[in-house]
Amino acid sequence: MTLTAELRDILGHDRVLSEPLERWVYGMDSGVVRGDAQLVAFPETTAEVAAIVRVARHYRTPIVARGAGTGLAGGAIPTQPGLVVVLTKMNSVEIDEANATAWVGPGVINLDLSKQTEPHGFHFAPDPSSQSACTIGGNIANNSGGPHCLAEGSTVGHVLAVELVTADGDVVMLGGPAPDPIGLDLRGVVVGSEGTLGIITKALVRLTPNPPDVRTLLTGFASVEDAAATVSGIIARGVVPAALEMMDQRMTQAVERFVSAGFPTDAAAVLLAEVVGLSAAVEAEAAIISEVARENNATTLRVAADESERAKLWLGRKSAFGAVAQAAPDYYLHDTVVPRTKLVETMTRVYEIADRHGITMLNVFHAGDGNLHPLMAFDSEEEGMLDRVKAAARELVEVCVQVGGALSGEHGIGIEKRDLMKLVFNEADLDAQARIREAFDPAQALNPDKILPAGSRCFDLGRPPLEGMWV
Ligand SMILES: Cc1cc2nc3c(=O)[nH]c(=O)nc-3n(C[C@H](O)[C@H](O)[C@H](O)COP(=O)(O)OP(=O)(O)OC[C@H]3O[C@@H](n4cnc5c(N)ncnc54)[C@H](O)[C@@H]3O)c2cc1C
Repeated sequence: MTLTAELRDILGHDRVLSEPLERWVYGMDSGVVRGDAQLVAFPETTAEVAAIVRVARHYRTPIVARGAGTGLAGGAIPTQPGLVVVLTKMNSVEIDEANATAWVGPGVINLDLSKQTEPHGFHFAPDPSSQSACTIGGNIANNSGGPHCLAEGSTVGHVLAVELVTADGDVVMLGGPAPDPIGLDLRGVVVGSEGTLGIITKALVRLTPNPPDVRTLLTGFASVEDAAATVSGIIARGVVPAALEMMDQRMTQAVERFVSAGFPTDAAAVLLAEVVGLSAAVEAEAAIISEVARENNATTLRVAADESERAKLWLGRKSAFGAVAQAAPDYYLHDTVVPRTKLVETMTRVYEIADRHGITMLNVFHAGDGNLHPLMAFDSEEEGMLDRVKAAARELVEVCVQVGGALSGEHGIGIEKRDLMKLVFNEADLDAQARIREAFDPAQALNPDKILPAGSRCFDLGRPPLEGMWV
């Protein structure tokens, strides 16, 4: 028997792909790194996932879980010839209205979950800009965020339990309906583990009640400094908006050409702020935001008049990455976090890096929590361009770390930032993470080469083990 034949015994012929074009497609995600998919499997049940893992382990084939492939850090691509397990067919949703929760399959598309829970008065709060395509399994594996995570928090705060197929093909349930289950919080360990600790086959997620009222404010500024000062000013006044998003002029112009959302294209930066809650509170918070914007010389200040205007503004913001296709055929989007107070300094340095490398840089980001998304638009056909883009990317991550920031706000580490982990973690930190991974998957069969750089274990670094320590 071969792995292909055994997988087809489990799933049938049509749910195992092996043609070169199919393998090419599943060898990439939405980032710039390419991998090597040997086989692609589409399970429909947890039992099938468990059987796939056991058989792949028998053939010593690396296993990479995959949702919609919208990840930007190379998380869902096999770095060695491997089996890609696509979870999109596992897309059931069971809503528990009384408890404001839902059991969902990993393949449920983020926006579909909110659409299905809307008639019950709920939505799923984490809303990545890719929400019309990305899956809940990918959201959990990457601990994804989104424009509305400033007030609601990222995915980890919205997951109560995870059903996981382990590296041995066992099925375990981590967490449960209780908000603070007893025992070690392995659910928390698995959220954000990018497919390295197991394959998520089901999750119990919290649903967030739809707010009774909402105000969306669009502000424009003649300088990025004024926009950044407004962001800090709003938070300093005690208002934590549901969302606080910024776009620079280049991005605003690209978006306007793409969807005509009504953004002021002459502004150096625009801010999109949204407040939600009871009407009186929403009015008061919108008034504070307007006041702070005026104090910081806003050149445009508008409150969306109705739901259709609000939807248009959000369509503009969430289409930002797609809009860049007009500027160049390829883009490389980064994801780092800096302290809010360092936004202006960091952006100045980011533009300087791009200019020095001769690259077009556009910026759109979750300004409220300092989560930058510098986006480089380029043509990969141009000789040497990809190398320049990668060099600029490394420099801009270093700048963000230098000002006290983090490697990633929400897109994960994957393969893209794996070797940069040493910028923010010391040997002991990396060793602790590597030991957790070993406990789940000693053979490193699940998504090998991701997150942790080679040599993360202390003994890999030539350090003697501590007395009494098992290695
Ligand atoms: C245009 C665009 C906008 C984006 N905007 C945002 C944003 O606002 N916020 C944000 O956080 N991200 C954003 N992203 C990144 C991406 O959409 C998210 O990381 C998303 O959660 C990935 O989901 P996916 O289903 O596509 O996962 P994939 O890309 O398929 O996989 C991502 C990672 O999750 C693992 N994985 C997937 N499913 C499972 C599973 N069932 N079990 C175990 N591991 C699994 C994979 O192995 C991989 O490591 C954006 C991407 C694009 C292209």
